[in-house]
Amino acid sequence: MGKALLYDSTMCIGCKQCEQACADQNKLPYSEAIAAESVQSAHKYTVVLTKGDKFMRRLCMHCEHPACASACPVGALHKTKEGPVEYDVWKCIGCRYCMVACAFNQPKYEWGSLNPRVRKCIMCPDRVVAGKQTACAEICPTGATKFGDRDDLIKDAQERIRQNPSTYLPRIYGLNEVGGTCVLILAGVKVEEFGYPASEKIGDTPMPEYTGRVMEKVPDFIPVWSLVLGGIYWISHRRDEVAAAEAEERAREGKNGSTR
Ligand code: SF4
Ligand code: SF4
Ligand code: SF4
Repeated sequence: MGKALLYDSTMCIGCKQCEQACADQNKLPYSEAIAAESVQSAHKYTVVLTKGDKFMRRLCMHCEHPACASACPVGALHKTKEGPVEYDVWKCIGCRYCMVACAFNQPKYEWGSLNPRVRKCIMCPDRVVAGKQTACAEICPTGATKFGDRDDLIKDAQERIRQNPSTYLPRIYGLNEVGGTCVLILAGVKVEEFGYPASEKIGDTPMPEYTGRVMEKVPDFIPVWSLVLGGIYWISHRRDEVAAAEAEERAREGKNGSTR
């Protein structure tokens, strides 16, 4: 059975211990300056965002059908049967196709490196295979980030919504989006307010069905032509989005490099 994370933003107190634990787990730097960064980056795989008294984590969604993996030309990214979408850093050639393919804007680029690669949350695969929780779930003092079997977490989330209908919006984000993800989110506000793509925009169809066809430029016949056109539109649109995000990231990395 696949493992997953259930993040219940209504239980989150914004302590950022998950950020620190993630950095420690992945041997990344963490300081007051990095804690203050409100964006993900190649050195910050997860971020806790704040809006008023509301908090929201961002991290790789560990899609059941990861578009990043289908777009990667060298097979650096792959879905494991345990749930995590891992990658082999040594295989990565820095082409950034995965950044274009990911609907959740998760893979980040090492702009400041001479040998730049893509980085993202890998769901602590060594811990998961060893039967442990992810580092962020283990450290979480309120249980807002919970690790477990995906099916059990879905039942848990459904029960929370049933018992507390005034606390939660009646949806589990990630249950069906892009064919389902292994990060599930419960919230009292729309996750879109924190940068998650709207469910209507990304749909329930696994993204590899679009990206695989478009990236490989496989010619198809009329019955699937609309799918291909949709994929081309989506990829083009994503390229624009990624280009804008990259410009921001580059500027930020430059600024951080001069302040750390
Ligand atoms: S969220 Fe993006 S990077 Fe993470 S598994 Fe899905 S497609 Fe890949
Ligand atoms: S699952 Fe592991 S790699 Fe991903 S955010 Fe949590 S601690 Fe970091
Ligand atoms: S450790 Fe838990 S409570 Fe603290 S910010 Fe992370 S998810 Fe929220």
